[in-house]
Amino acid sequence: MTTLTISDLHVSYGGVKALRGVSMHVEQGEMVALIGSNGAGKSTLLNALSNVVKRKSGEIVFEGRETKGMSPHSVSRAGLLHVPEGRQVLGDMSVYENLQVGLIARGKRNTIYTLDHVYELFPVLEERRDQIAGTLSGGQQQMLAIGRALMGGPHLLLLDEPSLGLSPLITDQVFDALKKLNAEGLTVLLVEQNAHRALEATSRAYVLDRGQIAFEGASEELAGNQAVIDSYLGA
Ligand code: ATP
Repeated sequence: MTTLTISDLHVSYGGVKALRGVSMHVEQGEMVALIGSNGAGKSTLLNALSNVVKRKSGEIVFEGRETKGMSPHSVSRAGLLHVPEGRQVLGDMSVYENLQVGLIARGKRNTIYTLDHVYELFPVLEERRDQIAGTLSGGQQQMLAIGRALMGGPHLLLLDEPSLGLSPLITDQVFDALKKLNAEGLTVLLVEQNAHRALEATSRAYVLDRGQIAFEGASEELAGNQAVIDSYLGA
């Protein structure tokens, strides 16, 4: 089953054309990478999917439903959950309170992502449940941001640069958790500048270049194509 279909999506900020006719799809149970250099439009695409930015034209169909006109809140209530770049945890609230806020998106939907499930995935969140979120390390805040989205019972999880600013060791932990979630059946769209990490964790990938899809294919194939990586990712 197709979870997400994007067709000919255009987004502009005033005169800046950030997305120029993007089409892509994510099937249920897949973990798909969206990679591209700085300013390629990756965050814009995720923000358009959660209706945080308005599209100029094009279609976005999530689980059979066109999301045009839905509020960002309604999109998350439908199960499309977004972990934005920079984590954005509620810094003055405790870890536990942040996770409870995540419940708002769940509504009455059933989900396997209980508090116990989140604590099992990220034991440090249980150890620090009463700690003020703003005092956590960057890696712990990233885990909390993912945990909060899980509490919303995602059908599709959008992740914007989860490795940003994290050490290689902590990045490993975050990616291990994502792989575990995907193995349990969670559908994930992963935006990353760290192409090698993203390609290693996913089965399929899209390369975004100046607002357009420049390449799509199996992650393994792309990982072995140094010419594409060099030309689009400057790696
Ligand atoms: P990064 O990895 O640096 O976040 P990105 O691939 O996520 O890059 P976007 O942040 O989506 O790229 O930006 C795409 C283009 O849109 C860039 O040219 C950027 O300068 C522009 N842009 C993004 N947000 C805005 C905004 N609020 N107003 C005007 N232009 C914007």
